[in-house]
Amino acid sequence: MSTSEVAAPQPGAGGAATTPLLSVENVEVIYDQVILVLRGLSLTVPNGQIVALLGSNGAGKSTTLKAIAGLLPTEHGEVTDGAVRFDGADITRVDAAQRVRRGVALVMEGRRVFEHLTVHENLVAGGYTRGNRADYERIYEFLPRLATLRSRVAGYLSGGEQQMLAIGRALMSDPRLLMLDEPSLGLAPRMVDEVFTFIQRLNAELGLTALLVEQNARRALAIAHRGYIMESGRIVLDGAASELADNPDVKEFYLGLGEAGARKRYRDVKHYKRRKRWL
Ligand code: ATP
Repeated sequence: MSTSEVAAPQPGAGGAATTPLLSVENVEVIYDQVILVLRGLSLTVPNGQIVALLGSNGAGKSTTLKAIAGLLPTEHGEVTDGAVRFDGADITRVDAAQRVRRGVALVMEGRRVFEHLTVHENLVAGGYTRGNRADYERIYEFLPRLATLRSRVAGYLSGGEQQMLAIGRALMSDPRLLMLDEPSLGLAPRMVDEVFTFIQRLNAELGLTALLVEQNARRALAIAHRGYIMESGRIVLDGAASELADNPDVKEFYLGLGEAGARKRYRDVKHYKRRKRWL
């Protein structure tokens, strides 16, 4: 697939540099020393862009984000081959806290906030790793809604408000790359709109680079510059987000049903083209 950016949104204010901020190169991940989940996965995230990572359940999207964030050891997972490079440096063996200090942030699936703490306390906790305890004013300015909720206990917020807080907390570490794992999952449609608009604003107004994992392919591709589709631990298709959104196979896979009424695997789609491997 061509990589032309004809109809793609413009990169945010953060710049149009060609060197990728993140590159994942032929990464293999194994859980519990035997369960092979990522099988030579490669992707890049250019500086200043939003990149969507799409795929069916169990394809390995969350595992990819955890490999980038350095969180696999907590789940008995390991990168056994390949490399993760951030801003040109090999961070494959760097621990998770160091990666946060370098600017890698992950908002995990499920809106994980500290439920017993207030909104404000959640933000303060988010700034701990990089010592940015005072940076919450910047977040409140960008997200006035959180400012009005600052004294509220996080556990009583709506799902959408919790998601905003989870993102706000990640922003407190002053990331250069914000990774989001299914931020729209389980939200009411109005809140889904707000969350996607917010992610787009972060990119357009602050130039923040984002890697977005989503089941909601249509919405993710609408705000992304580029997209990757993965299946069974590998990338099977990539391209400009606008092209992927128009691709008949992507439409059929994500929106349609197979002849027998079953959702098709991407591999079974007629025009499926195998992606060129990196090496
Ligand atoms: P979903 O959309 O359902 O969240 P996903 O694409 O994010 O799926 P992963 O959560 O990365 O996929 O899971 C990929 C595969 O790895 C699945 O088969 C899953 O069972 C397995 N897996 C994930 N985490 C672990 C773990 N901690 N230990 C063992 N296997 C795991």
